[in-house]
Amino acid sequence: TLAAQDIPAVAGAELRVPLVTGESIGYANLDHAASAPCLSAVRDAVDEFLPWYASVHRGAGFASQVSTKLYERTRGILREFVDARATDTVVFTRNTTDSFNLLARSLPKNTSVVVFDTEHHAALLPWRGPNVRRVQTPRTRLAAVSAVDSALAECPEGPRLVVLTGASNVTGELLPVKEIAAVARRHGARIALDAAQLSPHRKVSLRELDVDYVAFSGHKLYAPFGAGALVGRADWLRAAQPYLAGGGATKIVTGDAVVWNNGPERHEAGSPNTVGVYALGVACQTLSKQWDEIVEHEAVLLDRLRKGLAAVPGLTELSLFDAPVDRVGTLSFVLDGFEPGWVAAVLSAEYGIGVRDGAFCAHIATKRLIGEAGAAGQQALRVSLGLGTTEEHVDRLALALRQIVARGARWTYTRADGRWAP
Ligand code: PMP
Repeated sequence: TLAAQDIPAVAGAELRVPLVTGESIGYANLDHAASAPCLSAVRDAVDEFLPWYASVHRGAGFASQVSTKLYERTRGILREFVDARATDTVVFTRNTTDSFNLLARSLPKNTSVVVFDTEHHAALLPWRGPNVRRVQTPRTRLAAVSAVDSALAECPEGPRLVVLTGASNVTGELLPVKEIAAVARRHGARIALDAAQLSPHRKVSLRELDVDYVAFSGHKLYAPFGAGALVGRADWLRAAQPYLAGGGATKIVTGDAVVWNNGPERHEAGSPNTVGVYALGVACQTLSKQWDEIVEHEAVLLDRLRKGLAAVPGLTELSLFDAPVDRVGTLSFVLDGFEPGWVAAVLSAEYGIGVRDGAFCAHIATKRLIGEAGAAGQQALRVSLGLGTTEEHVDRLALALRQIVARGARWTYTRADGRWAP
């Protein structure tokens, strides 16, 4: 059973939230894909580190030495977390969005970029110019591989990059990364993996997948906000202009010249987020010890969720692919006759359940998948499971949705600042 499984504990399991009735209830956070709660191990480690943090690389004081050591040690932890090559560099960023913007600014001149149009905006939008090819995501994994093959065949001579998510933030479905990477290699292209949604749920091996870059965010990996990473080939990053100009990125500055660092510090100007980086490292270490249990825990809950949702009349789940594929515990759906924002407000106010509604920073994907599912509207509801999820949360959601459908949209909720509220 789930209870017998030893999965990493999260902080906040005891949180209670107010209901519209005035009572309170244990919070059912079904929005792990947006930001995951902090691991207890991370909270404890950060608590211990907080009195010690200091500026890195700049001070001879003991606290500075401790901070510098932990900060630099985390590069190795992240390298191990994604099974990077020894020659890969680890640049600390703010999050996945920051990582891809850094990579976009580091591309050699005239690099062609191939990207599916259903990607999260963080992976879709940083690439600019005439050499960006947006490929419409086909409805089978096989066709997706061929589509990248064809797009790469049409690219002009020169450097090429394929950008791809490991797991869809809308549907949780896994993309055929290894197969697409193999195709990319045949065309001499590099591949950048958006692991924002995959890395909290599965072991990501840069070497096994044969990808060149991987980007991820601490706040989706059960650490607090503010730290993420870009891990991968060093050459383009070393040759690029510094992402930010300032202290820490420089080797020598004179009256009329600057010599920039060649290592990851080149792109990390300014006092870095020492605590965030440390927290991210602890989260990665904690997850790495228990992948089997984590995968099993989520599979059991996802199965239970899907059975529960199958009993909700008028519910249509969204999918990228026609055939079922391996997936993480995230899914989106529409409820016939109900506005997603309104349903999300009712779930929160009357059931203490947190879900996401909208188009999930993947507008093209969400709108198209709603249409392809034969449903109406431009927005959907998203449920995402993780280490903070229990069977009770999943059962509460299924019951709540059945009750909402049975009662119909008849309570008075008003819209303020674009959100529904009681
Ligand atoms: N890619 C995917 C697949 C995501 O789900 C997200 C976050 N929703 C991002 C990128 C961007 O992550 P962040 O907001 O942490 O930069």
